[in-house]
Amino acid sequence: MKAAVIKEPGVVEVQEVPTPQPAEGEVLLKIEMCALCGTDQRVLSGEKHVDVPIVGHEITARVHMLGPGVKGIKEGQRCVVQTVIGCGRCAMCKIHRENLCENIFKAIGYQFNGGFAQYMIMPKSGVDQGCLIPIPEALPAEVGTLIEPLSCCINGMNYIPMEKLEHIVVFGGGIIGVLNSLVAKARGVPHVTIMDVAQDRLDLHKKIGLPIDNFVNSGKVDPVEWVMDHTSGRGAGAVVVAASVKLLVPLGMKVLKKGGHLSVFAGMPKSDSVDSIDLNLIHYNEFNIHGATSSAYREFITAREYLVSGKIKGEKLVTHRFRLDDFLEAVKTQADPSNQALKVVIVP
Ligand SMILES: [Zn+2]
Ligand SMILES: [Zn+2]
Repeated sequence: MKAAVIKEPGVVEVQEVPTPQPAEGEVLLKIEMCALCGTDQRVLSGEKHVDVPIVGHEITARVHMLGPGVKGIKEGQRCVVQTVIGCGRCAMCKIHRENLCENIFKAIGYQFNGGFAQYMIMPKSGVDQGCLIPIPEALPAEVGTLIEPLSCCINGMNYIPMEKLEHIVVFGGGIIGVLNSLVAKARGVPHVTIMDVAQDRLDLHKKIGLPIDNFVNSGKVDPVEWVMDHTSGRGAGAVVVAASVKLLVPLGMKVLKKGGHLSVFAGMPKSDSVDSIDLNLIHYNEFNIHGATSSAYREFITAREYLVSGKIKGEKLVTHRFRLDDFLEAVKTQADPSNQALKVVIVP
């Protein structure tokens, strides 16, 4: 089969490799599409290390062959792939919060080969956990690839009482900021604002007609002034930090209403993740601070429901398609904001 193989940090080649065969309890998937995400970019550039040569975890696939002993899954079934595989024994895994596994979860595209290939193995632990999530035949494959990133946004948004919000501000206009914003709209938040410093991105949002209320260039206006002007001086009920920029966390607190919710969705660079913040802001304003890391089964089910029902329209979010042969060009295209690439998918 063909695959995009990491030869050494920062060096990727599309080449022929042996097609894997499913062992006892495993399932062989034929990849329909796999989308590139920000984490993939960091791995492919050599900045972040993973244990396997083939990455890619935003996958739409079809069950191609069952290994011996697999029950309850049919060949030919279309599915998406839940990324995170927990230990199955700890307290968090027992309540199906595998993304918070106490023994450190394993993940597709990190510890197991991923979807930038024609075929992929779902390991036995993933099959047993229920990581193959069926999708209807009518769902376009590229929309299917959005289920994984959307599930992560739904996970982060679970902590925010969306029904009570008047205004939510999302820092970061990449696909993750956009998906967070669309979850807020789908859950009925009247005013949703995306802030970004890249005008190209904001122009793209308008061009594709995202149902978001405000697109604000926070490089051109003072974000604190803008939010206060648009919230009768009270601040936003919630802020989502969806860009790996440390200063957005203290900035988020400055635009937050009393009793508001701040979600630190984005991971910060591992080598530079420490910051000093005024803890009295949290104390006196009764701020709620939340984290968000990956997602588990229930968020995949909600994400599938949003995209299948059209509550969130996925088609317009996929802006670029590349063949696996042109993998390196796809990576370059997504990395440069002037290309106005929101989601880039690979068709093997
Ligand atoms: Zn991802
Ligand atoms: Zn566990």
